[in-house]
Amino acid sequence: MAATEQQLLEQRTAATARLTGMTNHTLAIAYSLSLVSLGTIYALLRREAGKRQQAEANLRRSEHKFQSVFDELYEFAGLLTPAGRLIEVNQAPLAFAQVTREEVLGKPFWEFPLWQQSSELTEIAKTAVSQAAAGRFFYTEVTFNSPTGQPHTFDVSVKPVHSAQSKQVIWLIAEGRDITTQVQLRDALRQERNRSLQLINSSVDGIAAFDEQGTCTVWNPAMEALTGIPRDRAIGQCGMDLFRSLVPDSTLQHLHLGMADTITAFDFSHSHPQTGQLRMIEARYSPLHNGSTTLTGGLIMLRDVTRQRELERLKREFISIISHEIRTPLSSIRGALGLVAEGILDDDPQTAREMVSIANNNIERLVRLVNDILALNRLESGQVDLKYQWCPVISLVQQAFSSVEALATTHQIRLEATVPDDLRVWADPDWLVQVLVNLVNNAIKFSPPQTAIAVTAEAIASESIIQFSVADQGRGIPADKLQTIFGRFQQVDASDSRQKGGTGLGLAICRQIVQQHGGRIWVESELNKGSTFYFTLPHPEQRQEAERNQTTQKLL
Ligand code: ADP
Repeated sequence: MAATEQQLLEQRTAATARLTGMTNHTLAIAYSLSLVSLGTIYALLRREAGKRQQAEANLRRSEHKFQSVFDELYEFAGLLTPAGRLIEVNQAPLAFAQVTREEVLGKPFWEFPLWQQSSELTEIAKTAVSQAAAGRFFYTEVTFNSPTGQPHTFDVSVKPVHSAQSKQVIWLIAEGRDITTQVQLRDALRQERNRSLQLINSSVDGIAAFDEQGTCTVWNPAMEALTGIPRDRAIGQCGMDLFRSLVPDSTLQHLHLGMADTITAFDFSHSHPQTGQLRMIEARYSPLHNGSTTLTGGLIMLRDVTRQRELERLKREFISIISHEIRTPLSSIRGALGLVAEGILDDDPQTAREMVSIANNNIERLVRLVNDILALNRLESGQVDLKYQWCPVISLVQQAFSSVEALATTHQIRLEATVPDDLRVWADPDWLVQVLVNLVNNAIKFSPPQTAIAVTAEAIASESIIQFSVADQGRGIPADKLQTIFGRFQQVDASDSRQKGGTGLGLAICRQIVQQHGGRIWVESELNKGSTFYFTLPHPEQRQEAERNQTTQKLL
């Protein structure tokens, strides 16, 4: 028993010792573990603290960097509350206005000294704040005076900053840039542009420019006058469309305004938009390049060369007159008088007389020619001042008949007049007699003997005109010459001037006189049967009478 107890005791002691050993071991392990954990925690804490310090240092550095950048900004920058209080401002506006940060921070934006330079400026600042606080971007240009009194122009903007969550305006950012130099440059450019525009606008030549798409960008007043197309209608339009009604298709297809890279020059005729007169226009197209060879558009210049072309035509005509109309009679005169002067015809006085007579006829023809040219030029250049008066038509016809009576007798032609006794016309009597003389003179020249020439005049009340007619029974005029014979030196037959002693200017003179009186002239003719020349003159009395009749009819 005692042995068993002893054995049990020993077993318990051994178990206890094992247990104690295990516990100790466990404790040792736990102890060691807690030591390790503590060390780890400590290390982690240290690392976290280090990181935080690092982050703080980074934050400070970045804040410093931001502050330095903000402060060193050349532009004016400020942060405001939505109510307009200045929370932050950089160095530039402080330096410009010569104030300290402390003097302005916390105060309303519009109390910043620069905005106090005038009541207008203060108002602008207030508007800027209220507009930005309402969520709208504000932008304007203002001029502040520097402390030395120098004006500086700034572009000022105030923009709202919204909260990401509530979308409410939480800050306002105010900015300002000194744009004095840019403004000066811009003004100089604007002035330069105005000067160029003035030059373009005062040019007597029509100038139009087109961009590379062929769209019209410039259309000066001379262009408006020449084409009748107003600037408003031209700008922004396709150049080809604008010129389609003016320039012949054959020319237009080579032009491609703004897009063609070749210089083109051409003439075209065009009836003047106001007067309806036919004008000769010289056009010159040149491409526009921006320094290099890149085509940036085109320029077209139009010049009214009607007068120039007319002068050229007159020059050509003058040379042709000298070479033909004057040289031919002069040669005849020289030939005829030469024979007489050299005494060759001394023994033949009859032939000598004929020679002198030939010379005399040619001299008369030259005098007529010179007189006709001078008369026509005076009429065409508007140098003739018509002396209007009421003229009894019958007396005008009688005057004309007495001028051509001798010629009519020689050609055995009867002159007949059918004119109401009381018919009067408002005209310059001398020039009107000249018209009648020219027409009757021609009628005599181109009629066979024993025929009659009938002159009539009648009032056509419905048209308020007086219509004259001079009818002959002569050779007639071919249909293709009915218009052309009213031109200078135009004759049906080249021999007419030689055989009939004409100059080819009579009808041109008639047309000028009639047109200057406000009338028109034309001819109807049948070959070998005769011709009738008509001309009309406006009749103020007839018009008044027609108007009176109309009123009476209405009243009835
Ligand atoms: P000219 O001095 O040659 O007569 P005009 O200008 O008066 O010049 O006439 C031009 C031309 O018209 C004449 O040369 C003639 O050929 C033609 N002509 C004019 N009147 C008549 C007429 N009554 N009958 C036929 N031809 C005419």
